[in-house]
Amino acid sequence: MSGGKGLCSLYISPEKRKFIMFDKLINWARMKSPWIIHFNTGSCNGCDIEIVSTLTPRYDLERFGVQQKGSPRHADVLVCSGPVTLQTKDRIQRVYEQMTEPKFVVAVGTCASSGGVFTGCYGVSGGIDSVVPVSAYIPGCPPRPEAIIDGVVKLLGSLEKKEEEEKK
Ligand code: SF4
Repeated sequence: MSGGKGLCSLYISPEKRKFIMFDKLINWARMKSPWIIHFNTGSCNGCDIEIVSTLTPRYDLERFGVQQKGSPRHADVLVCSGPVTLQTKDRIQRVYEQMTEPKFVVAVGTCASSGGVFTGCYGVSGGIDSVVPVSAYIPGCPPRPEAIIDGVVKLLGSLEKKEEEEKK
């Protein structure tokens, strides 16, 4: 064969195949049961009430496998509400660092997305992305539970798509 890939390059050893299957299984489980941790970085509590409502039986985010956890070490997704105040800046960074890879951040509400009405205040550093990288923004003041569910589902969908593209 000239220039092209030989048949040998298509061969996957049984050992490697086991790892590929294992990787697939882990990713499938991760997408179907993302565990989240909620962090209020300085919210007026409006967004937090909507997040709590989203997680409780009326809106039931758990039907997508989403579960709230108490420790960042157990969570895949960090859900933040409010602008980042100087008081919480170091803490959010620390929480983010404690999460294991791959990890994602969702900014819930206008304040978390951009600082909102608190932009320019002496004690505010800005939106969540002024401290940690954000994967999804859910605008609204506060966003309705339906919008939060939509944001989380879209994030999971885009992660699944990204993963499929990476495999190609
Ligand atoms: S977006 Fe609105 S409800 Fe949410 S923290 Fe900011 S001011 Fe409060």
